[in-house]
Amino acid sequence: MAKILIVEDERKIARFVELELKHEGYEVAIAGDGQTGLDLAMSEDIDLVILDVMLPVFSGIEVCKRIREAGSDIPIIMLTAKDDVMDKVTGLDNGADDYMTKPFAIEELFARIRVALNRCKDKEKTMLTAGKLRLDCKKYEVYYGEELIALTKKEFQLMQYLLMHKNEAVSREELLNNVWEYDYLGDTNVVDVYIRYIRQKIDAKYNVKIVNTVRGVGYIIKDE
Ligand code: CA
Repeated sequence: MAKILIVEDERKIARFVELELKHEGYEVAIAGDGQTGLDLAMSEDIDLVILDVMLPVFSGIEVCKRIREAGSDIPIIMLTAKDDVMDKVTGLDNGADDYMTKPFAIEELFARIRVALNRCKDKEKTMLTAGKLRLDCKKYEVYYGEELIALTKKEFQLMQYLLMHKNEAVSREELLNNVWEYDYLGDTNVVDVYIRYIRQKIDAKYNVKIVNTVRGVGYIIKDE
């Protein structure tokens, strides 16, 4: 079952939503200020964030912005004060998926949670990620943070295969057979050549180590 983070300083509301969500079978975590909310959203195994706008330390808008800047596309539902159009707009502009105005009917919140979690499931099939790197397999686009990276089709397919097998060492032969789709009869140098292109375009440019060499085997992409 999905784990939901509630970031809300009004204890009564947080507690009420927590009990209702648990009753529905969700796991729940609670944070009472912006900093704790951000830390939990980024560190724990959270599937969705319910985020109040008015929070101590820093606002829900700021939390939302920082989650997106860190490259996470976790679904976020903002809680805004009644009729505060500015908060709604600012929230959506900063990457929130949806918002609810307080006071709200709990059934409506459940419905929005289901929609947001389903949307996320669909995305999982087409979006592959490692840290700030994102591959959109439908659009054939690669992003590092918000920046679009131009990869050739073969480079893209190579990254796609490595990301589909994230945290596993993939041999050069396996890459040849699956990315080039035929047996390259022994000459695996072509893989190294393409890996070098990719490293120039991503690792060198952003000063990161995305594609790692596994000596004597091949390559691995690990989650940061
Ligand atoms: Ca509040």
